Formats: sequence, structure tokens, C-alpha cells
Amino acid sequence: MTKVDIIIIGSGLGGLEVALTMAKEGRRVLVLERQRRPGGCMQSYRRGKLNLDTGFHYVGGLEPGGQLHDAFLSHGLMNLPWQRMDMDCFEEIHIADRIFRWPQGTKEFINAMKGYFPHEEKGLDLYNELLESTDEVWMQRTNAWEYLNSIISDPLLIQVLSAPATCKMELRKETVPLFTFVHCTAPFIQSSWRLYGDGNMIVNRLQEQIRAYGGEILTGKDVTSLQEENGRIVKVLCADGTEYEADYFVSNAHPAVTCSLVGDSMLMKKIFRHRMSMQPNTAGMFTLHLQLRCGALPYFNHNKLIFLESNCWDMAVDRSRRVKGIMISARHPEKGEHAVNIDILTPMQWETVADFDGSKLFHRPKAYRELKAEVARQCMEIAGTAIPGLADMVLNTWSSTPLTYKDYNLIPDGSAFGFRKDYANSMMTIVSPKTQIPNLFMTGQSLMLHGLHGVTMTAAYTCQEMSRTINPE
Ligand SMILES: Cc1cc2nc3c(=O)[nH]c(=O)nc-3n(C[C@H](O)[C@H](O)[C@H](O)COP(=O)(O)OP(=O)(O)OC[C@H]3O[C@@H](n4cnc5c(N)ncnc54)[C@H](O)[C@@H]3O)c2cc1C
Repeated sequence: MTKVDIIIIGSGLGGLEVALTMAKEGRRVLVLERQRRPGGCMQSYRRGKLNLDTGFHYVGGLEPGGQLHDAFLSHGLMNLPWQRMDMDCFEEIHIADRIFRWPQGTKEFINAMKGYFPHEEKGLDLYNELLESTDEVWMQRTNAWEYLNSIISDPLLIQVLSAPATCKMELRKETVPLFTFVHCTAPFIQSSWRLYGDGNMIVNRLQEQIRAYGGEILTGKDVTSLQEENGRIVKVLCADGTEYEADYFVSNAHPAVTCSLVGDSMLMKKIFRHRMSMQPNTAGMFTLHLQLRCGALPYFNHNKLIFLESNCWDMAVDRSRRVKGIMISARHPEKGEHAVNIDILTPMQWETVADFDGSKLFHRPKAYRELKAEVARQCMEIAGTAIPGLADMVLNTWSSTPLTYKDYNLIPDGSAFGFRKDYANSMMTIVSPKTQIPNLFMTGQSLMLHGLHGVTMTAAYTCQEMSRTINPE
């Protein structure tokens, strides 16, 4: 194959967005993906007549002027069939034997919270300011849990303000920076959207455009090594024996994987590689997909978040296997008014499934299947408190754990959101797209921020850094 300008390793959202941006600038790009299908966490998979989503349920900030609108417009994603979630309630929170409904729009949201917690008017005014804050450095260095406690005195309000973040980030009291918390909250309050379809629509649209701009995407290409010569990467080697050459390289793989591909480099310092392999990752996610009987459950255009205790922080399932809270997301039906597929999510620590690491997909041991069945049973029990009779509506179930994500996407510890960000060590936990090798860059959720919004911002930053290197002023 002829040499291209840029090779992108991995076709997650970040890899595809970088490929499209650089292809639009006139570069010849080649994306190499190890799986049979592109998309990483954004791909959906087929079971019977259903396409089940893995890492996409909803997105925030797509309204004109919203944080993701312009980037999605320029990537050709705004004319996908987006469905705005219910204006008066896009998150329904069941906690402490009460139900709280979040409306869309910052003003409407703050007013609704003041209605539930009239004694917290001052704290909610400060929270309103926080949602609009642009002081990135301060937010990166401030502990989210401590800050919320410093402005709000009612512990239940803090839980209500945090609840929808349980499946959008790792709610960990010790580490979460305010920056991560606000970016996983504010755009969704401005506006929240589901796709009238599955996450593959995003992946397919990005692929179509990359190809339209002359780029190429090859799947089944497991990159095993980046070859360095005279202080630059010159080519990649794949497990099937093929080799590809380029002037520049971008890795969308987890940074620890990227460092392992570089191997013994003259330029990439051992200390950097050590840091990338030792840095902690966030917890993963357990997902239970349900196929429902026709006409059994009216579609609901909001998420339901249900907690057994009055707490949604540090609640990921661990070795005790106890589920403490869930999020339920319904897929918009293709026909009619009834839901055909709903997903139940709960965060899960890697340690819960670590004993089964190394077992083969589709040939997992019985004990692993029993673990999944036990967690699924608890998820169903909790979901049944908000949707009475749910168990009788179910036709089929499928589930995935952090081990599934590790084996498919090669994400260490099956982490849902990549590197754990730590307010006390923000300089170390935020990773630059530039590496010590001048023509090797990185992108993806581990660098700055995760989720569709975070990965899109990071991809833009990677492209900016690469363009500066390619065309120095
Ligand atoms: C259960 C779950 C639900 C989520 N829900 C939402 C949601 O509703 N909204 C939202 O905004 N975000 C959500 N997220 C987060 C979002 O899905 C991710 O942040 C985002 O998709 C990550 O994209 P990425 O570019 O970092 O790469 P990834 O998706 O990690 O993709 C990396 C790609 O690189 C490939 N790769 C790795 N190594 C190699 C190699 N050596 N050779 C070739 N290819 C390689 C992998 O196979 C993979 O395809 C969710 C995440 C999870 C886990």
C-alpha cells in the first residue's frame, strides 16, 4: 500500500473525528481498527432483530449555541435523526423514597430544584454560577464533592444534583475534579438528546464522510508495533503481518496501549511509559439489555435513575456484588408508542470480574455467567420499583461487564471512561495529545475528558496540535 500522510490507530469516536478533520484539510488518512467493526465504545451489536448500544445512550449540548452543536455540524452529524428528550423531565430520580424531575434549560432546572429545596436558594444560585463557569484551571484543581458540600448544606440536594452523573462519569469523592463533574452535567441540562436509532448511525456517518474525502478505514487490523527510525515513527506493523507507512501517526488506543506499541523507544522516556501504564482508570459499567414484549411498556422519553440508599457517590458494584443504584434508558421505538428495548446500567469495579480475565469471549466460565446473572437479578429488582411488572414484560436479556469492554476495545481494567482524573494531581492525570516522539500524537477519552462531548473536544485539540507541527508558522 502506498504511504499516506496520517495513520490513525483505532476507530473510536476520537479516531474517526480526527481522521475526518484531517481528511477535510486535504490529508490522505488511513484508519486501522483491530475489531471487525469500527466505532469502539460507540458501536452497537445485533442480537435477533435488535441493535444494542454499548457506549451511547444520550448526549447533551446539541441545541444551536450548545457546547457540541458546532462540532457535530461540521462533522455532518447534526442531520442525524436526533430526538430531544422531554423538556419538563429528562432525568427522573428515585432517591430517599421521593421522585425528583429534572427539566431542560438551566433556568428551568434551577427553579425546579428551588421548588424541591426552598431552603437552599443561596446554594442553588451558586450552583447556577458553577454551571456557567469558564474558570477551567480552578475547576480542574477543585474537588467536586468538597465543593458541592461547601455551597449546599442539605445532603439530599447534593445527591439529587449528582444522581444522573452516576453512569456518565465515575462519581468518586476522593478524586473527581469539578471540571469533569460540570462537563458531564451542564451540557445535558442545556439540552438532552437521544438518537432515533442506534450509536452506529454516528459511526456510519463519520465513515461515509472520511471515505468521501478520500480517506480509508480498514478493520481487522490489530496494530502490534510502531516502528521508530531516526527519531520518528515510520510505519506500523499489524498482527496479520501487514505494514503501513505514513508521515504522522495518531493513536486512539488507551495511552498505556499506545506506549506498549512503541516498545523500546529512543525518544519516549521510560518514566512516561511507566506513568501511562500505572495511572489508575475509572471503574467500568455493567449493562443489562432487555428486549420487551410488543405493547408491554409505553416508551418513556427520559432516563430513570433509582437508588436503594440516599447516596449515589462511590457506589460501583465491587466484590460484594451488591447493586446500589441503576440508570434505565429506553430506546426510541421504530414503530408505535411502546418500548422494544431498554438498557439498565450500573457502574462496576474491575475487581468484580478480574478473576475471569484471560477467559475467552463466548467461552467464559460458569462462575462468570453466575456473577452476571446475580447482578442482572438485582438490577431487575431495582428497576421493578419504578416500572411495576417489568419482569413479566421481558422476552430476552443480554449483559456485558468491564471484561467485555476490555476484550473488545482493549481498554485496561475494562474502564468505562479511561484515565481517572484527580483534582489533587491534575497536571499528571491530564495527558497532552503530543508525545515525546515528534510525529506521534494521541487522542481519545483518557486524555482530557470522556463522553461524546469530551472526546470531540479532545479530537479537535489533537488536530490543532498536529496541524501546528505539520505547518509551523
Ligand atoms: C456503558 C457506557 C455507556 C456510555 N454512555 C454514554 C452516553 O450515553 N453518552 C456519552 O456522551 N458518552 C457515553 N459513554 C462514553 C463514550 O462512549 C466514550 O467516552 C467514547 O465513545 C470513547 O471514545 P474514544 O475515542 O476514546 O475510543 P474508544 O471507544 O475506546 O475506541 C478505541 C478504539 O481503538 C481500537 N484499538 C485499540 N487498540 C488498538 C490497536 N492496537 N490496533 C487497532 N485498533 C486498536 C479499539 O478496538 C477501539 O475501537 C459511555 C461509555 C460506556 C462504557
